Amino acid sequence: MKGRRLKKKPILILICSIILIVVGIVFTVKTVKELNYRKTYEYKLIKIGYTKEEANQLENKTNNTFLDSLLTKEYDKVYLEIINEGYYIPSKISDYVNYYENNLNSSSYEVVEKVNAGADKEWYSDIKDTDISKDILMINNKFYKLPNDYEPADLVDVKNWYAYGNNKLRKEAYDAFISMFNAAKEQGHTIIINSAYRSYKDQEDVYNSYLRNHGQEYTDAYAARPGHSEHQTGLTVDVTTYGVGNSSFDTTDEFSWLQDNAHQFGFILRYPEGKENITGYDYESWHYRYVGVEAATIIHDSNITFDEYYAYYIENA
Ligand SMILES: [Zn+2]
Repeated sequence: MKGRRLKKKPILILICSIILIVVGIVFTVKTVKELNYRKTYEYKLIKIGYTKEEANQLENKTNNTFLDSLLTKEYDKVYLEIINEGYYIPSKISDYVNYYENNLNSSSYEVVEKVNAGADKEWYSDIKDTDISKDILMINNKFYKLPNDYEPADLVDVKNWYAYGNNKLRKEAYDAFISMFNAAKEQGHTIIINSAYRSYKDQEDVYNSYLRNHGQEYTDAYAARPGHSEHQTGLTVDVTTYGVGNSSFDTTDEFSWLQDNAHQFGFILRYPEGKENITGYDYESWHYRYVGVEAATIIHDSNITFDEYYAYYIENA
């Protein structure tokens, strides 16, 4: 009996030791895991009030520089709203943040819209060359400039039937305009071209004449500086109908018809009402730009400007 008891003791000690070692290992692994987790953005973001899901969204849709700066701030749901906007472009995150923090009353939609269009900067600052290789989708605005000597290779004369005075357009835009003209005509509407292609020199004359008569501020709201006019692309038309001036074109049936149908022919209203801070131009109900049916349909259906379209679908695609 005594001998058996003595033999049991070492076995018990052995079992206890094994249990202790296992518990020790499990505890150590758990501690290391926990310490590592505390180093993650997820843990740190949750600490300042974001949910696990929000933290994961922020990690997936932004970068470490942004996350590091976010950790120095209080919880703000606008950052989440920005990264979940339909036209959010990840590489522009620092511009969104800068704009938002300087305009705290802006909604996330406004922040993304403004930055994508480049309109968070001062007009005519940080000017880049227009990428002519984008063809009918080339952009020309207050931040993109065409070379002074740029003249489209495929300009054609517009027949007087369609226009007041002598005008030229790029062949593709002209063909699309004729289709649109005919479709409108079938509904009893007449859309007449007032002005189409303008060379750098033409625009220089227009701009300088505005400048002499109205001063810088007014001129920049209505007339593009030379090299910055869409009319130099040969893809743009100013239109009218019988007996109305530019300022009252939006009261005509022709205008209403264009609102509903222009995109089906590849044309967009380039400077819409309410988007003055995005395009940099006052509302121009008469100015239409040819971009092709696919782009025009997206722009029409999503109620965005070509400036935003270009940033999202062309430049950062
Ligand atoms: Zn125009």
